[in-house]
Amino acid sequence: NLTTRLSRVLDSIRGQGRLTEDQVNAAARELRMALLEADVALPVVKEFIDKVKVRALGAEILQSLTPGQQFLKVVQQELTETLGGNAEPLNLRQQPPAIILMAGLQGSGKTTSTGKLALWLKEREKKNVVVVSADVYRPAAIEQLRIVAGNVGVEWFPSEVGQQPVAIAQAALAHAKKQYADVLIVDTAGRTTVDEAMMKEIAELHAALNPVETLFVVDSMTGQDAAKTAKAFGDALPLTGVILTKVDGDSRGGAALSVRQVTGRPIKFLGVGEKSDRLEIFHPDRIANRIIGQGDVLGLIEETARKVDHEKAQKLAEKLKKNKGFDLADFREQMLQMQNMGSMQSILEKLPGGAQMQEQIKSVDAEKQIRRTVAIINSMTPQERRFPDLIKASRKRRIAAGAGVEVQQVNQLLRQYETTKDMMKKFAGGGMAKMMRSLAG
Ligand code: GDP
Ligand code: MG
Repeated sequence: NLTTRLSRVLDSIRGQGRLTEDQVNAAARELRMALLEADVALPVVKEFIDKVKVRALGAEILQSLTPGQQFLKVVQQELTETLGGNAEPLNLRQQPPAIILMAGLQGSGKTTSTGKLALWLKEREKKNVVVVSADVYRPAAIEQLRIVAGNVGVEWFPSEVGQQPVAIAQAALAHAKKQYADVLIVDTAGRTTVDEAMMKEIAELHAALNPVETLFVVDSMTGQDAAKTAKAFGDALPLTGVILTKVDGDSRGGAALSVRQVTGRPIKFLGVGEKSDRLEIFHPDRIANRIIGQGDVLGLIEETARKVDHEKAQKLAEKLKKNKGFDLADFREQMLQMQNMGSMQSILEKLPGGAQMQEQIKSVDAEKQIRRTVAIINSMTPQERRFPDLIKASRKRRIAAGAGVEVQQVNQLLRQYETTKDMMKKFAGGGMAKMMRSLAG
């Protein structure tokens, strides 16, 4: 994967001083392989590598960095820029109802994403949302949207097989206006491959509705094909943004780069699971870090904040940012929140080094381990939690007995806490330079 490749790049150019042309060329070759392995489309790879080379050679050299670190920093910056620089929010600045048109191939995740967006707009933006399906070829698709809308608690405007998509959309719009709805999301039919009839139909819908957002929904697992599909849709429609779906199943990250480059349109959201709440704002810098294998600590904290106890998680995030002491009580809090979140998978993906940890943990019952960790910390005094250094042999025995575990397991927990604390410091407190240094170090 990209991370492994990049660490190889770094090893090949470890040394002192500024980057030489030879070093940059050698590193660029590895980077090229890594990007191709990550399923980034070839023309996109070429352009990206060229930019990295220019930037790496012209880079202002920070004395504190080794050549490897410098190169990595350049890759990180270029990735972030290529992915769009800053997060781009949905544009709803239109006389309501603001219309969102969903476009994409069959199975890309349009209907699922329609539900996710509806829930997002309802909960985060307090919008009154209506959804409608213009997928008149598959009765099951209309029914699917009805169910999704019911689950997330937004209004579903009925439609039927055999109706004209444009007629459906216009009726839905008239209804949404009458209801003073803020947003109308129009789900559409997609074929399994790009064809003219589909493009004509969606272009007609677009012309009839004049949506403020036309979102191209694309399956990240389709890799190279994602770029081709993106081009076809981008040529047929004035896209305003992209939703990249099934990112939970794709660890390669190549589609994000290709789709952004090919459409020139911002990726606005990521679909990270089948359920309606598995939608994330696309943050280019974070995804760049995820692609290089940094983990996404801030993303993790944000997700925790949303899902669990908002205030507590906020405090924890602030504490981490300020690099203040992260004690065992915080560690316990973190464990409890992980437990609440249910999906260990999504957490581990985001932690630095999470991929490896995921492997290790597969064999263990993660829930059980969390419960045990919490039980051990519960057996400590508040002072011990605040100052873990106090915990020497006799205290360990007492804590172990209190929690019904072996002393060895108390030791294990303390080590785990230290590791987490180190990671938190590195990745949440120290800013980019420190992060890069620790990465390449
Ligand atoms: P459509 O044909 O474009 O409307 O696609 P659907 O919304 O019906 O989605 C096709 C399949 O992909 C369904 O089984 C969804 O549950 C699944 N799916 C959609 N988005 C995601 C995602 O972000 N992650 C995962 N794991 N599955 C997804
Ligand atoms: Mg559908």
